[in-house]
Amino acid sequence: MQREHVDVLVVGAGISGIGAAYHLQRSCPDRTYAILEARDDIGGTWDLFRYPGIRSDSDMYTLGYSFKPWTDPKAIADAPSILAYLRETAREHGIDRKIRFGQRVKRASWSSADARWTVETERAAFTCDFLFMCSGYYDYAAGYTPELPGTERFAGRIMHPQKWPDDLDYAGKRVVVIGSGATAVTLVPAMAKTAAHVTMLQRSPTYIVSMPGEDRVANWLRRRLPGGVAYAISRWKNVLLGMWFYRFCRRNPTRARALITRWLTNELGPGFDVATHFNPRYNPWEQRVCLVPDSDLFAAMRAGRASIVTDQIETFTEKGLRLRSGTELEADIVVTATGLNLLFLGGLEATVDGVRVDFAQTVNYKGMMFSDVPNLALAIGYTNASWTLKAELICRYVCRLLNHMTKTRMRQCTPRLRDSRFEPMPFLDLTSGYVQRAIDRFPKQGSRTPWRLHQNYALDLLMLQRGSVDDGVMEFSNPAPAAERGADAVRAVAAG
Ligand SMILES: Cc1cc2nc3c(=O)[nH]c(=O)nc-3n(C[C@H](O)[C@H](O)[C@H](O)COP(=O)(O)OP(=O)(O)OC[C@H]3O[C@@H](n4cnc5c(N)ncnc54)[C@H](O)[C@@H]3O)c2cc1C
Repeated sequence: MQREHVDVLVVGAGISGIGAAYHLQRSCPDRTYAILEARDDIGGTWDLFRYPGIRSDSDMYTLGYSFKPWTDPKAIADAPSILAYLRETAREHGIDRKIRFGQRVKRASWSSADARWTVETERAAFTCDFLFMCSGYYDYAAGYTPELPGTERFAGRIMHPQKWPDDLDYAGKRVVVIGSGATAVTLVPAMAKTAAHVTMLQRSPTYIVSMPGEDRVANWLRRRLPGGVAYAISRWKNVLLGMWFYRFCRRNPTRARALITRWLTNELGPGFDVATHFNPRYNPWEQRVCLVPDSDLFAAMRAGRASIVTDQIETFTEKGLRLRSGTELEADIVVTATGLNLLFLGGLEATVDGVRVDFAQTVNYKGMMFSDVPNLALAIGYTNASWTLKAELICRYVCRLLNHMTKTRMRQCTPRLRDSRFEPMPFLDLTSGYVQRAIDRFPKQGSRTPWRLHQNYALDLLMLQRGSVDDGVMEFSNPAPAAERGADAVRAVAAG
């Protein structure tokens, strides 16, 4: 198999991969790169999901790139607008010409003798000096659907939001959406516009807060200031507001719960049973807080077009669902908005010098690399703020690392864990089901920098933008000269 070589191989052409390409072009112009994308189009998440109402649930001033102002008046944007923004970014910077579509990366093997990765896709093989995984965090093959008894009896249609059928006509139909996460709260008001009725069926409640779909301050600033300046101010405003809200919730759970309950009671009116349907078992931000724009979910409920039921499914029936309480929910369509399957590194199988890497046994370094795994980084975003904030910090750090290696003529960089006081902790501290189902396949983190995964933009900004790349933990090396390797081999044979 012929192997093409590029200096940096980026895997994935979503928000992170396109961002990585921009930063590589800008900060490491001497390095060649290519993007391998499994699908036939760019956009990742924003191209895959096609369900009604699909939109961001964080504002576009922080989900957008730092280098490309978001100019649409909507701060909470629909998927087509986000996709158009990503396409425009890729086109403007010539990144679209660097993408190889239909190239699903399966395996990567690192050779310390060559200081190179050999990367195999289903159709080709490549070599690269640095492998930059921008593969997202979930399995594109299928979403998560729990075992639901009696589905074969149900006469209507059942679907998962990750595989939305093009031909689905739900106008005038009775719809049940199972779930209460970000997808369910998006689907319910969108489908309620034309469906006969939409019921959101949740096993347990979630925190849901509303925010204006348009950011009045950002739009005001854009009319008065140069585009880039207005965008930078709006971005920082929203970063700081988001950080404040998260901190407030984690430090004052009782007050935060009371505040959210008061908001919801005002939204839904005094007759609504907030205590049953919006009173989660956990504290705010122990799991993601869901966001709805302009109270659209609550408006659909107030108008009687949507309702919420908190109960457990006993079984599907011919006509719909029977619940543990004995309630029967009749439905023509059931949507299982029951979540994603997390997938680490896009399912990559890796070896280092012939030894398989079990990523669950590795430790995260600076939220982007893994102990004892050379020249490989992962762009992964925040769980409590917009993904792109962290993904871009990682892109910039990778560029700094590459430039440092060019300057010092080093070809291998490997984070080495030599901290005797190291205590392993789970990679993500969310108690959500989708995290808990997969966390044992993810690397660990430690309690201290650089092994700690910060969910905090300010701390990451200090560590990733200002901190030294040569921090004593990262080991820089070069392949041993061939003659030396030959002598080692002779010694090994003699000893054996
Ligand atoms: C419905 C939904 C809504 C979301 N809303 C928000 C939001 O409002 N704000 C927010 O911050 N985050 C949100 N997220 C998280 C979201 O995924 C990120 O914001 C962001 O889109 C991630 O970008 P990415 O490029 O890292 O990953 P992705 O968008 O997942 O793109 C990864 C790309 O890598 C490709 N790929 C994966 N594995 C391989 C492989 N082995 N070989 C080749 N290619 C591969 C995929 O095909 C895909 O194109 C949302 C997620 C979902 C599912």
